[in-house]
Formats: sequence, structure tokens, C-alpha cells
Amino acid sequence: MTGVLEIIEAKKQGRRLDPAQIACLVDGFTADTVPAYQMAAFLMAVWFRGLDADETVALTEAMLKSGEQLVVDDLGGPTADKHSTGGVGDKVSLLLAPLAAACGLRVPMLSGRGLGHTGGTLDKLEAIPNYNIRMGNDEFLKVVREVGCAIVGQSAGIAPADGRIYALRDVTATVDCVPLITASIMSKKLAAGPETIVIDLKTGTGAFMTDLDRARQLATALVAVGRRWGRRMAVVFSDMSQPLGVAVGHASETREAFTALRPGGRAAAPADLVALTETLTAAMVQTAGLEATGDAALARVRAAWDDGSAWVTLQAWVTAQGGRLAWDAEDLGLEVAPVAATVTAPRAGWLRVRDCREFGLALADLGGARRRVEDAVDLRAGLAWLARNGAAVAAGQPLVAVHADDPARAAVAVARLTATCEILDQPWTAPPLVLDRFA
Ligand code: URA
Repeated sequence: MTGVLEIIEAKKQGRRLDPAQIACLVDGFTADTVPAYQMAAFLMAVWFRGLDADETVALTEAMLKSGEQLVVDDLGGPTADKHSTGGVGDKVSLLLAPLAAACGLRVPMLSGRGLGHTGGTLDKLEAIPNYNIRMGNDEFLKVVREVGCAIVGQSAGIAPADGRIYALRDVTATVDCVPLITASIMSKKLAAGPETIVIDLKTGTGAFMTDLDRARQLATALVAVGRRWGRRMAVVFSDMSQPLGVAVGHASETREAFTALRPGGRAAAPADLVALTETLTAAMVQTAGLEATGDAALARVRAAWDDGSAWVTLQAWVTAQGGRLAWDAEDLGLEVAPVAATVTAPRAGWLRVRDCREFGLALADLGGARRRVEDAVDLRAGLAWLARNGAAVAAGQPLVAVHADDPARAAVAVARLTATCEILDQPWTAPPLVLDRFA
């Protein structure tokens, strides 16, 4: 076995590493025998030199084995999960988990908190009074077995090497590296166990991977790694150049997502939220082998939505995790801050969001998103995205409603959003919501 310095040197020179060398680095870093400065040098060498398919598999394996792995083969049905690379207003998991369960899948989801401009499912679930995000593995899997789905926070025991390596990548400019992202995502997804994994790979200004070509490279690497572990994989590329749905903010997103699942909700909910949820859930149903074609999978998803079975599953799931909602009330008992200000179109024209990230940062201005991991978040703060990219708007038309208790914070968010909502003189065509698929 070569020493750590030789391993870094080999990668710096562009040479291939064997699995034992990669494991030596990851294990050593996790056990604190390889210092952060050596790991940082290795990560930068990887950023410049890359990793081939076998090296990426070896890195994923070493990170996966740094922690516990859930056993999900006795849950009473085919298991499936969805991973989103993160965006603004992305509350799809909250609808998709009960919907997929109502279609016959078993959906054990481990979820994270939001950081920076992207929201996390865990924060949205914390808006539900009494909802338990920290169940033990046995209790969590029992809910999945009995109800069909459950969502808890990823425990520190899952792929701990990823948490440490990610923190280092964050401060060494090595986040944007396809093999490192692949190993990071897949080590966590493989540890969580499901046999089918559907990735929602977001591109556009609100995504961390802004262009479609890089997203395709990432998709290829994710699918290749998943298949090495015998997983059924599919990738949907979706647009994140504007918020998804209307609500941005934790309580308001949870309310929007759950309200959409009421019988009749599919027709009333924001069209983009419905379309992406249907597409991703149908991809899970088809990839897991419950239906042979995309059309049949979509029909099964729509039936489970419209006949109320997804709504029943939603209530059973939230209740099983201790959540207390007013299921008959219009607002479900999820309190959102009042409208403090509105962003309006300064003149007539065609709307274009310059930078979708600004919506996530505006939520942070309101106290509703984290700038640092340890920050507390205001679950009641939020934004309502009232218009759509490419729409013709009239002068004075409301574009965004800002929900906040503090007018001074609202004013900061309004200034940010006003700057990013551009009014063009000419019509333009916004990108389609679903850009492509890969399986
Ligand atoms: N999401 C992850 O989990 N890891 C990355 O490296 C990037 C996005």
C-alpha cells in the first residue's frame, strides 16, 4: 500500500488509483488519521484530473462503507426513492412519497436540510406540529411497511465520510466536480437501500448545476454507479430557472404540497408542480417495474391522485410520524406570515427571472432559509410566485407576494426580487419544465 502523499501525487499526475488507495484516503480521513489538508489536496487533484468510472465506484463504496446501511428488503413491496439535486420551491417529495406509496411502492426517504438558496424537505416537514423527523431505523421502517412511505432526517450514521468531505469541498472550491458529486449523492442513496432510484436533476439559474451538458455528464455517472450496485436508475432533467409552484417557504410549501393531494387538487394545484410530481412518480413506478410503459405508469399515478388514495396515504404517513394537522381546514393548520409587501411589474412586457437563486436568497432575507448550517429558520416566512417566466405582464401586475412579520426584512427581499424580475420588450420562450430523461 502506498502512503497518502504518493496517492495524492499519483492523482496530481493524472494516474489511475486503485480501490485500496481510495479507501485508504477516505477511511483515514474519517478516522482522523489523514488530515484535512491532505484530503483537500486530493480533492483539488480530482477536480483537475477527474476520476474514471471504476475510481468513482471505489470512492462511492468507501464513502458508503464509512457508515451504516439500511436493510429495506422486507417492506412488503418494491422499494423506490427520488433524489432532487435541489432547487427553489421544490416540495415534490411531500406529494410524491404518499403518491408513490398509493401506487404500490414502498418509499423510505432520508432527507436533508436546506442550505444557501435551496430548500430542504426536512425544514418543510418541521413546519408540521409534532412531526418526528428523528425516528430510529426500526421505527422508521415500520412506518414504511405499514403506511407505504416515511420521511426522516438523514442520521449522522449514514455515509459520515460524505458529511466531512462535503464540508471540506465547500471551503476548497471543489463542489462542482462530477465524480465527487456522484460519490456524494450515491453513497447516501445506496446506504438508504431502495432498489429503484429516480434522480431529479435540476438545471438553470436556481440549480447548482446550471447547464444541461454538465447535468448530462452527472446523470451518466450517477446511473453507472447505481447500476454497479444493481439498482434500477432513471434521471429526469428539469428546469429550475424559476421557483417550482407558487409557494417558497417552509409552512407555505408544505401547505401547497399537501393541499394539492386532496381529491380534486390535481386540477387546482400549480400546473408545473403537478406535472413534475406526476413525471417523477411515474418514472419511479415504471422503473420499479410496476408498469411496463410510461403511459400506464402515468395513468396509475393520476388514478391514485384523483381517487383520494394518495390523500388517505398522506394522512396515515404524517399521523404515523406524530404530525398533527387540521386535515379538514383549508390551511391545514399550517400558519404562514401575513403579506407584508408585493413586488409588481414596473411596466408592461414579458417576464424573465434573471437569477432564480435570488428567490432562495430573498427567503433567507426574511429569515426563512439558512446562510450557515447552524442558523435557525422562520418556518412562517415565505414568498408567493404569482407569475411565470415568459408571461406577458401588465404594468403594476403583482409578481411576488412577500409573507413576513418584519417590514424591514420584507423591504430587503422586495429590493432583491425587483432586481431579478426582468421585464423584456420582446416575447421569449421559457425552457420547458421537463427538459429530458435518461435511463
Ligand atoms: N448534493 C449532494 O448530496 N452532494 C453533492 O456533492 C452535491 C449535491
